[in-house]
Amino acid sequence: MAKRDYYEVLGLQKGAPKDEIKKAYRKLAVQYHPDKNPGNKNAEEKFKEATEAYEVLSDDQKRSAYDQFGFAGVEGMGGGHNWSSFQGFEDIFGGSDFGSIFDTLFGGGLGGAFGGGRSSRNGSRSGTNLRYDIELSFKDAVFGTKVEIQYAHNESCSACHGSGAEPGSGRKTCPTCGGAGQVRHSQGLFSLAQTCPSCGGAGTIIDKPCRQCGGAGAQKKKQTIKITIPPGVEHGRRIVIPKQGDAGANGGPPGDLYVFVHVKPHKYFERQDSDLYCAVPVSITQAALGGEIQVATLDGKTVKVRIPPGTQNGKLLRIREEGVPQSSAFSIRRGDLYIKVLVQTPQHLSRKGRELLEELSRVEGENANPQPIPLSELEQS
Ligand SMILES: [Zn+2]
Ligand SMILES: [Zn+2]
Repeated sequence: MAKRDYYEVLGLQKGAPKDEIKKAYRKLAVQYHPDKNPGNKNAEEKFKEATEAYEVLSDDQKRSAYDQFGFAGVEGMGGGHNWSSFQGFEDIFGGSDFGSIFDTLFGGGLGGAFGGGRSSRNGSRSGTNLRYDIELSFKDAVFGTKVEIQYAHNESCSACHGSGAEPGSGRKTCPTCGGAGQVRHSQGLFSLAQTCPSCGGAGTIIDKPCRQCGGAGAQKKKQTIKITIPPGVEHGRRIVIPKQGDAGANGGPPGDLYVFVHVKPHKYFERQDSDLYCAVPVSITQAALGGEIQVATLDGKTVKVRIPPGTQNGKLLRIREEGVPQSSAFSIRRGDLYIKVLVQTPQHLSRKGRELLEELSRVEGENANPQPIPLSELEQS
C-alpha cells in the first residue's frame, strides 16, 4: 500500500500552523488509540500513521525536510517509516493512563519545557515529568545493560507529607473565591467562570505553611536509581521510568522520568535496524583464490568466515545471528552481522611478488579496453 502524504493523513493543508497539526493529531489519536480499539488492526494502523505524521510535522527540522524532499527527506531522521524509533513513543503510551498521556503530550510536557503537572478540583497536583539524558556505548546499547543514574527531583516533604500545611494546622476556606474554587469575570454580556488563582480550584488554602518546605509540599532531593536498558535500544529512544519524576502535591500522583538514550558510535561497527556491519581487509590472492579469515564480533567472540573464490571488492558476507538482539512481546531474535570485504591492492611488492604478478598478468592477459560497469550494479546484496 502506498504511503499517504503526512498532511493528508492529518487532514491538513501544507503550511498548516503548528497548533492545527497538534489539534488534528489529538483528534485522530483519541479516536484510534489502541486502548480504545482493542484488537482493531485498522485502528492501530490509523493510529500509527497519524503518529508518524505528527512526529514529523511537529518537528520543525523534520517538517522542512519533508516539505522539500518528501518521505526521502525524513528517512533515517527518526521519523519516516522507521518504526523502531516509534517504539519509544509506544513506551510512553503503554503503562500510563490515557488521560495523563495526553496531558503529557499536549500540556507542553514532552518535547517542551517539561512544565508543571495538572491540578484537579481537590487541589491535588500531579508531579512534573523529568528528563534525563544518558549516553551509552554502542555495545551496551546493542546488548542491553543496567545503569545507575543520579538526579535531583522533588520528593514529598517529610514534615507535611506533601500537603504544604504545617503539621497540626489545617486548611481554611479560600478568601478569594469563598470556597467555590472558581471566580467569575464579566465580559460584556458574558460572564466567564475561571479557576480561582488563589486556591487553584480547591476552594481551600493552607492555613499555616509548613516550616520545612515553605508550603510547597516538596523538597529537592538527589536520588540514585538503577535502570535496565533493554537490548537493541536505539539512539534517540525514550525509556519511561514510571513515578520517578517530581512528587505530586496534596495526594497527586508523581510524574515520570523520561530517559533519553544517546548512543556513541563504534570504531568498527555500524548498525542498521537489527543488523551490524563492519569492514575487513582481504588480500587480492585471498579474494581470488578464496580462503578463511577470522573476524571479531561485537561481543568479542571470534568467528571463522569463508571467503569464496572470486570474491569482489565490496562484497557483503553474512554471519547469521551475530547482530542486534531484538526482543518483542513474542520472541527474541537476533539480526545478522555483515562483513564488507575490502580487497587490498598491494602497494609495496617484494621483487618476488612483483615477478609472480607479472607472470599472472602474462598468463591471464590484460584487458586494455574495458567496458564501463553500470554504477547501479556496484551495490552488492
Ligand atoms: Zn512540608
Ligand atoms: Zn479560591
